[in-house]
Amino acid sequence: MAFVPQLLFFLVLAFAAFIIRSRVLRIRDNIRLGKANPVNDRSGERWNNVLLVAFGQKKMFKKMIPATLHFFIYAGFLIINLEVLEFVIDGLAGTHRIFAPYLGSMYNLLMNFFEFLALAVLLACVVFLIRRNVIKVPRFRSPELTGWPLLDANLILITEIVLMSAIFTMNACDQLLQVHSEHYTATGTLFFSSFLMPLFSNLSQDALHVIERSAWWFHILGILGFAVYVTYSKHLHIFMAFVNTYYARLEPKGQINNMPVVTREVKSMLGIAPADAAPAGEPGRFGAKDINDLTWNQLAAAYSCTECGRCTAECPANLTGKKLSPRKIMMDVRDRMEEVGNSIAKGGKGLQDGKFLLDTYISREEINACTSCNACVEACPVLINPLDIILEMRRYVSMEESGAPAQWNGMFQNIETSFAPWKFPPSDRFKWANE
Ligand code: SF4
Ligand code: SF4
Repeated sequence: MAFVPQLLFFLVLAFAAFIIRSRVLRIRDNIRLGKANPVNDRSGERWNNVLLVAFGQKKMFKKMIPATLHFFIYAGFLIINLEVLEFVIDGLAGTHRIFAPYLGSMYNLLMNFFEFLALAVLLACVVFLIRRNVIKVPRFRSPELTGWPLLDANLILITEIVLMSAIFTMNACDQLLQVHSEHYTATGTLFFSSFLMPLFSNLSQDALHVIERSAWWFHILGILGFAVYVTYSKHLHIFMAFVNTYYARLEPKGQINNMPVVTREVKSMLGIAPADAAPAGEPGRFGAKDINDLTWNQLAAAYSCTECGRCTAECPANLTGKKLSPRKIMMDVRDRMEEVGNSIAKGGKGLQDGKFLLDTYISREEINACTSCNACVEACPVLINPLDIILEMRRYVSMEESGAPAQWNGMFQNIETSFAPWKFPPSDRFKWANE
């Protein structure tokens, strides 16, 4: 029966891996609901963005205090996972601290470093909880951050605190047990958890063993639960930020994406021969009404959104009381993807459910409030571009429905007939230079 814990551990690990795999495939399929847009250019600049912006968190450091705290949580997440590797091997092999004999005194150094990170993560999470719930930082109190998004953010912070506490409990009991049992490999003093040892020093060996094992199981089950939960939560940005920074737009921010089919038309109106052949078939829908009109990159960006609200905090439309919040735009795109993806998975109507991203999720009042200033793009720490999506929806309203605000129609007509926003014939264009 000695193998029962190992078998149990294997089953739990396999179950978690199965759910994570299914969820990753679902997210991939949801992103593929959009239009394919292969990105094969400027790989050096793209990797640079991954290293500096995603890995180095460069844009986060515009706000030093939250950036430093976030960095502790991020580094803790990455580095403490090395310890999880030992947990997994121990769990499967029935060993205890399998790396200790191989690493010698390095093991003590590493464990102390992990404890330092665990303490930093714990304190950072406490500060973040206070900022959200006690100080109530304005960008965390927007209407789109009530209900599940607020609970999601709090849940993950509380889970991190509990998981880090389990590490300290486990290490404190472990150090007490090392004195009496050969099974408990000597680790040397573990500085931070040794402060907890007096709490457990009067307990019997059996009680210490139960607490140490419970903390071990609690921690590893928590980590596996966390890994599953992340795929359903905004914390997916831990992984997707790397994807998004690679595929982010590299053109200057003010440069708007042209539509090749429209460019050809305009060029032929101006008597310029188009450089490439006309694309075959129907041009498809102009702009975006639903998620399938957006590109893979734009949909993947929605899964990268951290819901930090830095974009909304800088948005002039939002700051002047308009309904627009760029963070909500990204959250709506993600929610619509999830809705359609779940419906397809259940054999439902999918995209034909009578709902659309525009109007069902995002109102015309929101997209018309955008000044196209790019402040949200500049503010985003993971290079998301909410403006691109807003412009695509406006494009749909203008070009497919002729539904742009009436004041814009004169300008559209001038562009069509005079090739400029003003009502002068092209032949008069250089008259200003005559004198
Ligand atoms: S581009 Fe639009 S959404 Fe972004 S900050 Fe400016 S007004 Fe707000
Ligand atoms: S779009 Fe960027 S800035 Fe806005 S909430 Fe998401 S991650 Fe934060």
